[in-house]
Amino acid sequence: MAETRGLIIIHTGPGKGKTTAALGTGMRAVGAGLRVLMLQFIKGSWHYGELDAAAQFGDRFVLRQLGRGFVKIGAEKPDPEDVRLVEEGWRQAVEEMESGRWQLVILDEILYAISYRMLAAEPVLDYLRRKPEPLHVILTGRNAPPALVELADTVTEMREIKHAYQQGVLAQRGIEY
Ligand code: ATP
Ligand code: MG
Repeated sequence: MAETRGLIIIHTGPGKGKTTAALGTGMRAVGAGLRVLMLQFIKGSWHYGELDAAAQFGDRFVLRQLGRGFVKIGAEKPDPEDVRLVEEGWRQAVEEMESGRWQLVILDEILYAISYRMLAAEPVLDYLRRKPEPLHVILTGRNAPPALVELADTVTEMREIKHAYQQGVLAQRGIEY
């Protein structure tokens, strides 16, 4: 069998599908016998359908929310409590990636946290350069920093053509959350 080469994958851009594509990959990976961890930065206030779906896979697909809900966009400075949660989340992410327990780790919205300056890009770059070789890592969120895009093996930018939200349609249970 071919040796496993751990990939660094980025889902970015303004269109819909970054987190859901990561979840789809997680489901594919679980089906292939890999153990999957998804850490959701920022998120915490909404109860997303994927929390209950992943729970059905037991300890083969673990999903944890690390935040307290979407932070205010356009705020001058992020709230120190949100910054603390993101930094604590990053420490947890490194510990989990080092643990050898997982073959795929998804860092959901981590790029959003970086672009809002809640987390510096450098430690993330440094760690990904020396991560365990066979580990696959997916990073999601808008505005991926160029240095991370350069380091990653596979990068997809979701481009918005249109979104129901613009027609005034509110988020739909099972589709948006
Ligand atoms: P999803 O979780 O549906 O894959 P995403 O991860 O690509 O979306 P985020 O930027 O994380 O998108 O935003 C999360 C929420 O915002 C989701 O409820 C999503 O449906 C919604 N959303 C995503 N793109 C848009 C858009 N272009 N306009 C309005 N709402 C959007
Ligand atoms: Mg998302």
